[in-house]
Amino acid sequence: MVYPFVGIARSFLIGGFPSMANLILILGDQLTRNISALDNADKDRDLVVMAEVHEEASYTNHHKKKIVLLFSAMRHFARQLESDGWQVHYQAYHPDNEHQSLEAVVGEQVKQIIAKSVITTECGEWRLHEQISGWHERLGVPVEIRPDSRFIATKQEFADWAEGRKQLRMEFFYREMRRKTGLLMTSDGEPEGGQWNFDADNRKKWTGKPPAPAPFRIEPDAITQEVIALVDEHFSDHFGTTDDFHFAVTAEDAQAALEHFIDYALPCFGDYQDAISDNEDWLFHSILSPYINSGLLDPVAVCEAAAQAWYSGRAPINAVEGFVRQILGWREFVRGIYWMNMPGYAKENRLGNTRALPWFYWTGDTKMRCMHKAIDATRRNAYAHHIQRLMVTGNFALLAGIKPEEICDWYLAVYADAYDWVELPNVLGMVMHADGGYLGSKPYAASGKYIQRMSDHCANCHYKVNKATEDDACPFNALYWHFIDRHRDDFAKNPRMGMMYRNWDKQKPEKREALLQRAEYLLANVEQL
Ligand code: FAD
Ligand code: SF4
Repeated sequence: MVYPFVGIARSFLIGGFPSMANLILILGDQLTRNISALDNADKDRDLVVMAEVHEEASYTNHHKKKIVLLFSAMRHFARQLESDGWQVHYQAYHPDNEHQSLEAVVGEQVKQIIAKSVITTECGEWRLHEQISGWHERLGVPVEIRPDSRFIATKQEFADWAEGRKQLRMEFFYREMRRKTGLLMTSDGEPEGGQWNFDADNRKKWTGKPPAPAPFRIEPDAITQEVIALVDEHFSDHFGTTDDFHFAVTAEDAQAALEHFIDYALPCFGDYQDAISDNEDWLFHSILSPYINSGLLDPVAVCEAAAQAWYSGRAPINAVEGFVRQILGWREFVRGIYWMNMPGYAKENRLGNTRALPWFYWTGDTKMRCMHKAIDATRRNAYAHHIQRLMVTGNFALLAGIKPEEICDWYLAVYADAYDWVELPNVLGMVMHADGGYLGSKPYAASGKYIQRMSDHCANCHYKVNKATEDDACPFNALYWHFIDRHRDDFAKNPRMGMMYRNWDKQKPEKREALLQRAEYLLANVEQL
């Protein structure tokens, strides 16, 4: 099927481009008219290039819904640019396309229009950044890479903040971002509500009340349906399903998703931020990360909308501050860590893990109820909320000593919001503690008790959370103590872990031995769990 604006941009048809035009490359996660690559561009002369290429769609086993979301959002965005008067060369995906990489597409267009220069905004991945950095030599044209002004801190600002600090703590960086933006700050420069952080109020278990709101839904339009058919045909071996696709694919619909969140979920976001449910996929989370990361929503505008809900009495401070902290704090912090430490960061494995990723991460076929539920939701939705990612699938990978690169690849593939700059620090750093502790002063390791406290999974599980060494004992329990025992050299001197080591050492030797044996058995038979 021919896509309406595939192929040759308008001015080719009226006699070719004036030479000395710029080629403006817009990537699939830069879908905003405010993207810096468009600053000072000339609609009449310059050519915007966007491309769905095999190399980007297939370098990992991206979830089918993620590909649908991005291709459809790109097509809608390109259309908007055209209707705003821009000249757009758009390559729609086809496995037989002559040009299967961004470099090939850009190289061809540079020749076609005899481009004066290529202009783009910095991308979100070291791999692509390296490629683009070499284009001026390989394509023989100047390449201007502009800073991504959608982030609150520049890469340099983060590096300056980090310089000379013994430990990087998100909380202190977050305060800087609050001061810089003025978000949730009084006119005297104090934090609203008298505290910087209300996390202590945000740890409630959810027992079904108040009911969790239905997620925001947009029914697929003709463009999205066409992309769904394309993905089903050409990406059938990728993870997940396109069934029940209901993500927004335009800025207008993403804005409606934000408003839906503010009206229905934000008031309880804080209280149940750490909760997990056996039958609710989304709880009170915003489900906005796919839109923020792809450019459909602006992160500061999202925070401002949340802050406004507090000022107007529609949401409590613990919810609003907790939400703003995720974006202003964590999101900016992980990006800073990524760019400050790449490319070496991706190879870190300070805990020396060697185990392969169990196959059930791809199938959800495990008797561990919490894991099954998190993976099944991931397969259906290309989404799991933060605590499922951190304390269920992440926690298991940490306790079982999975190789960081394998678990990182999994997270990069399976979520609609996954991009290297945000996935890698969260997984390699926050979950796997493979970087020595930039993202957490102690590993987020937990036994089944934590999952029992925060969820209602355990009552429905094949395993018994109150048992530790028996055949039907919760695997998280013995694996937790095995983790503590095998990493004594790494953590015994950590002040936040001392209590764990004292508890472990206090247990009778035969109990310790039984726990370690049970864990060894589980690790040897991990595929059967
Ligand atoms: P909410 O819970 O509603 O939070 C609001 C917003 O805060 C999110 O939309 C997101 O923009 C931001 N945010 C929250 N936590 C983080 C964080 N730790 N890092 C960066 N931003 C954050 N987030 C991604 O965007 N892409 C990823 O690939 C990704 N991988 C993750 C992997 C692991 C192992 C973990 C523990 C977390 C990961 N996160 C990732 C962070 C977080 O889990 C998701 O941003 C969040 O679950 C997205 O859902 P939401 O929009 O409903 O978030
Ligand atoms: Fe998960 Fe263990 Fe609870 Fe089962 S018993 S749901 S494996 S924590």
